[in-house]
Amino acid sequence: MTSFNNKGTALITGASTGIGAIYADRLARRGHDLILVARNRVRLDTLARRLTDETGRSVQVFPADLGNPGNVATVEDLLRSDRTISVLVNNAGLGATAPLLESDVARMDEMIALNVSALTRLTYAVVPGLIERGGGTVINIGSIVGIAPEILNGVYGATKAYVLAFTRSLHHELADKGVRVQAVMPGATATEFWEVAGRPIEDLPSTIVMRADDMVDAALAGLDQGEVFTIPALPNIGDWVAYEEARKKLLPQLSLSEPAARYLASQAS
Ligand code: NAP
Repeated sequence: MTSFNNKGTALITGASTGIGAIYADRLARRGHDLILVARNRVRLDTLARRLTDETGRSVQVFPADLGNPGNVATVEDLLRSDRTISVLVNNAGLGATAPLLESDVARMDEMIALNVSALTRLTYAVVPGLIERGGGTVINIGSIVGIAPEILNGVYGATKAYVLAFTRSLHHELADKGVRVQAVMPGATATEFWEVAGRPIEDLPSTIVMRADDMVDAALAGLDQGEVFTIPALPNIGDWVAYEEARKKLLPQLSLSEPAARYLASQAS
């Protein structure tokens, strides 16, 4: 059932389960029509039926493997051509828990293709249309390992550091063009992610694992509060502000015509 929709359509990747499926639920209840992207058509269809029944929104499914460049191109075409799209949630992602040098490099490549390349291409595809239509929102699902890559597999952490840096620069370039961006940095969240990544979630202390519903609701509250970076678990926002201030203090000192005195001193000795 399609109904009057002035919030536009949200395209969510990795929407068949976990965090993406909860974004689908919440964004439908906020009045968005949906396009759900993932590989598992049966799961997508089941979710689409439920959300259409419960919310009355129009919910389309678009099965695609975002690790496959040809499939990514079809989603890019959709993002360029569907003028109802107002929100992109770049959520599909793959993790790993094995140490960097004990991991299969082909699997690392798959992770980079999904977590970095697909996210980048889909963002490039959607942004010009959002600007032309007067604005929109891009939500990128990062991770706390983007600032703490030593916690899990290092390539996984590096892909999420990319999400943070990319989102920061998107915000820098798009804030005055009406396009909002947000990087969400979840800690451990109870989904199938851990099974796929190689460590059962039961192995983690329950004190560090958040329910996926709570994580998404907090992330959307952060979006409503205008945050560009949201760390759902971080108790004191002042700690993030201090981290950002330390980063900003470095900026004017990072590129200068002379090496720092400490290096000149060691050359002389
Ligand atoms: P999940 O339950 O494993 O769900 C991953 C989703 O991505 C599924 O819908 C899966 O659907 C889809 N997906 C995987 N590979 C895909 C591909 N090649 N093409 C298209 N879709 C694909 O994991 P999750 O916890 O919800 O993870 C969502 C995001 O949160 C990821 O970016 C992850 O890095 C991030 N994150 C998770 C945690 C955590 O602890 N769970 C913490 C921090 C960040 P199909 O299998 O149907 O394709």
